[in-house]
Amino acid sequence: MAAKPITIVGGGLAGLTLGIGLRQRDVPVTVWEAGHYPRHRVCGEFISGRGQETLSRLGLRELLARAGSVNAVTAAFFSSTKSAPPRPLPVQAICLSRFVMDRLLANEFQKLGGELRVGQRWPAMGVRAAACPDRLRPELQPEGVVCATGRRLQTEEGGSRWFGLKAHARNVALAADLEMHVSPRGYVGLCCVEGGAVNVCGLFQRRAGADNTPQTWREWLRGQTGSPLNQRLGAAEFDESSFCAVAGISLRPQRAAVRAECCVGDAITMIPPVTGNGMSMAFESAGMAVEPLAAWSRGETSWTPARQTLARQCDTAFARRLAWAKWLQRMMLAPSLQNVLVQFVAHSEWFWRTAFERTR
Ligand SMILES: Cc1cc2nc3c(=O)[nH]c(=O)nc-3n(C[C@H](O)[C@H](O)[C@H](O)COP(=O)(O)OP(=O)(O)OC[C@H]3O[C@@H](n4cnc5c(N)ncnc54)[C@H](O)[C@@H]3O)c2cc1C
Repeated sequence: MAAKPITIVGGGLAGLTLGIGLRQRDVPVTVWEAGHYPRHRVCGEFISGRGQETLSRLGLRELLARAGSVNAVTAAFFSSTKSAPPRPLPVQAICLSRFVMDRLLANEFQKLGGELRVGQRWPAMGVRAAACPDRLRPELQPEGVVCATGRRLQTEEGGSRWFGLKAHARNVALAADLEMHVSPRGYVGLCCVEGGAVNVCGLFQRRAGADNTPQTWREWLRGQTGSPLNQRLGAAEFDESSFCAVAGISLRPQRAAVRAECCVGDAITMIPPVTGNGMSMAFESAGMAVEPLAAWSRGETSWTPARQTLARQCDTAFARRLAWAKWLQRMMLAPSLQNVLVQFVAHSEWFWRTAFERTR
């Protein structure tokens, strides 16, 4: 029997990684991607966690290394007034811009014979079931369609709006491979990517009716005057063409098992970016999807059990880290706890290791 084809909606990290894994098993795959490559994305560009093993298993880690990925072995935390010295990361991370990485994966997918439909939006994904006619309902997606469309949109959460900003900069000397700066407005991560550029990426919270907030993206990213972040970026030269922004971010955890569609990556749920684990979850969920979906393609199982097996595996793998990440993010955003957090990271090996390991 001929292998049944799989359609992946979304050519981000999860969709392309799944496409590559399936092509390596000779499954016919088409990826629909609404955007184009290369493109900058709002992302800390810091890959940390078990997804690195998925990359190695699929033979992709070597590709990233050849493209100039930077190994990160230390991290340092800062609040608006306090600094902690660099600490070794319990497990090495890798940093590579999304500009390079997404294109690399897209090329690899095509090299393996995958069909990539760039600039084409799959019509029904991401539409709320209640808001669309029956023929477009997500739960009525045909068998063989995988949702890798990225984070779900949410305009407001608890009276505030989340948004993300990122730009590459030059002329920035870091004290550690990853610097994480927390402030009452949100947090900004800094890490070196290929070619000596520093990625400056922040997640911010804007409360309804708040004034005294910065007016430009540079002001948001540079932090408050006198803060360690502001000093670090004092001489930074931003690459305007790399600037991008996203809004409507939802950080409320969701289980894969409650979705009617077959999902991978942020389409399942988004982990708070402070963990630097979202890309890992995209790679991991894609890695977990390969076998059940290849078995469906070969006719060895039907669609519903394949989808449910994947959802169960993802929920088991991600539940604990999502719970810890939610708690950690709350702590990082509470102004009264930010200095305490920085002190803990500086002085408690137990705290540092536990927070790192439980969010991966
Ligand atoms: C501020 C911020 C900082 C972050 N920092 C980090 C970090 O340092 N480390 C980390 O690991 N993670 C980080 N993340 C999270 C990380 O970016 C995501 O987890 C990761 O991009 C998820 O990959 P994905 O493939 O699921 O989704 P995406 O990369 O978002 O890809 C989804 C793709 O689907 C396409 N698409 C959507 N709808 C359709 C449609 N209907 N038809 C066709 N195409 C469609 C989109 O164009 C997009 O290309 C951060 C996120 C934010 C917001």
